Amino acid sequence: MAHLVTLIPGDGIGPEVSQAARRAVDATGVAIEWEIAELNAALILKTGQSLPESVLESLNHTRVGLKGPVATPIGGGFASVNVALRKRLDLYANVRPVHSLPGIASRFADTKIDMVIFRENTEDLYSGIEHEVVPGVVTGIKVITRTASLRIAEYAFRFAAATGRKKITAIHKANIMKLADGLFLTCCREVAARFPRIQYNELIVDNASMQLVMRPETFDILLLPNLYGDIVSDLAAGLVGGLGIVPGANMGDSHAVFEAVHGSAPDIAGKGIANPTAMMLSAVLMLIHLKELDAAKRLQAAVEKVYAEKRHTTGDVGGHASTEEFTDAVIAALE
Ligand code: NAD
Repeated sequence: MAHLVTLIPGDGIGPEVSQAARRAVDATGVAIEWEIAELNAALILKTGQSLPESVLESLNHTRVGLKGPVATPIGGGFASVNVALRKRLDLYANVRPVHSLPGIASRFADTKIDMVIFRENTEDLYSGIEHEVVPGVVTGIKVITRTASLRIAEYAFRFAAATGRKKITAIHKANIMKLADGLFLTCCREVAARFPRIQYNELIVDNASMQLVMRPETFDILLLPNLYGDIVSDLAAGLVGGLGIVPGANMGDSHAVFEAVHGSAPDIAGKGIANPTAMMLSAVLMLIHLKELDAAKRLQAAVEKVYAEKRHTTGDVGGHASTEEFTDAVIAALE
């Protein structure tokens, strides 16, 4: 029986990279019935609905989504639909594996980088609770709860135990935000105590940023509240060759939505040059979730083969291929 999956093309480069990922998934031979759900800035402005019901209806039906990026206006306009979607479906764990790929001439090409970021996905400064006290004075509320902190920590530790990973680093700023980040840390420590075989340590976020650049190979699993998780994800992407290649999964107890770390990249949208690797590797995570392990392995191997050969990679990683040429090469490399 075919798997039902909601495909959200999104904004900017989203339609280009999601089409590429869809072609690659279809080429594995796994039967997927794609339900297309439009979600983009133009539609939101037209309908006035920040999260159209049609998208929720589709995801409630399929329970699995492959999503392109959606643009969010800066400093005004509608609230982020990406944040709204994660909250509405309670996709509380944002999981982002950051690996080196063969053949990429990044600054750390000779360093083996293999870490997984676990970012809390529903609260923190992303609560969107902002208030103008008087003109010229604005407050933004950072929400940290025991429930959300415990469940992201549990998710990360369970993942580590199931996959044989050795070390979890909780990242915080509890020296300054003693209550909010302090609670996050208390929860991480509580969960760590239940997993004595997994090493646990803590780093303040500024020091963690420096260590990530100086010694990226020493990190295994990173466990962070929402905002630090967002920033550190892009930093980590930079270590392995950029946003074009890092995938992600938004996981809840009843839904899963897979999407790249990158945004809609308006600077290169519509030019046919976006790197679809991050979306394809997000699709690999989706195939694993769907228990299509053989197809997941084959698609991962095909992507790695195209990188190792270096002949059909896109401009962001030093190549010259278009989105389509890269996709054709991945499909041709599928075994
Ligand atoms: P961005 O990730 O879109 O782009 C940052 C830089 O990386 C740009 O130079 C871009 O060209 C490059 N880049 C990103 N993805 C690439 C790819 N696949 N191939 C080649 N180059 C790529 O970040 P931004 O410019 O800060 O944000 C643009 C918009 O995306 C904003 O509206 C933001 O809110 C939105 N956004 C959405 C999501 C999401 O939907 N989950 C995530 C992040 C940002």
